[in-house]
Amino acid sequence: AAPRHDPDCLFCRIIAGEIPSERVHEDDRVIAFKDLHPQAPVHVLVVPRAHRRDVTELAEDPELLAHTAQVAADVAAEQADGEFRLIFNTGASAGQSVFHVHAHVLAGGKLAEGAL
Ligand code: 5GP
Ligand code: ZN
Repeated sequence: AAPRHDPDCLFCRIIAGEIPSERVHEDDRVIAFKDLHPQAPVHVLVVPRAHRRDVTELAEDPELLAHTAQVAADVAAEQADGEFRLIFNTGASAGQSVFHVHAHVLAGGKLAEGAL
C-alpha cells in the first residue's frame, strides 16, 4: 500500500495543511489546488492524497486514476467551459519536478501547442 505521508514531500505537506494552498476541491481520496505558477487561465493540480511517485504508480490503482481524471473534468467544468488539457509529467526529463503524482488541469482559453 502507498504510504500516507512523507514529511520530505512538498505535496504531502500541502495535503497535511503544513503549507498553504488555494484549494478548489477536496474529498477523501484527492485534493485539487491552484498551481503557484499558472501556465493557463485555469491551472489546477489534482493530487491523490496517498503518496505515489508518478502516474505509473497511480495506475496500479485504476479506480483512483479514474477518480483523479473525473475530478479534473469537474474542475474544468466549474472553472472554465469544461474543455481542458490533462498532463502527468513523468520523470525529470519529461519535466516532473515534484515526485508526488499530480495531474495538471489546463483550461480557460486557447492553449498553446506544447505547453508544459
Ligand atoms: P511538475 O513540474 O512536477 O509536473 O509540476 C509541479 C508543479 O507544482 C509546477 O507547475 C509548480 O509550479 C507547482 N508548484 C511547485 N511548488 C508549489 C507550491 O508550493 N504550491 C503550489 N500551489 N504549486 C507549486
Ligand atoms: Zn507525497
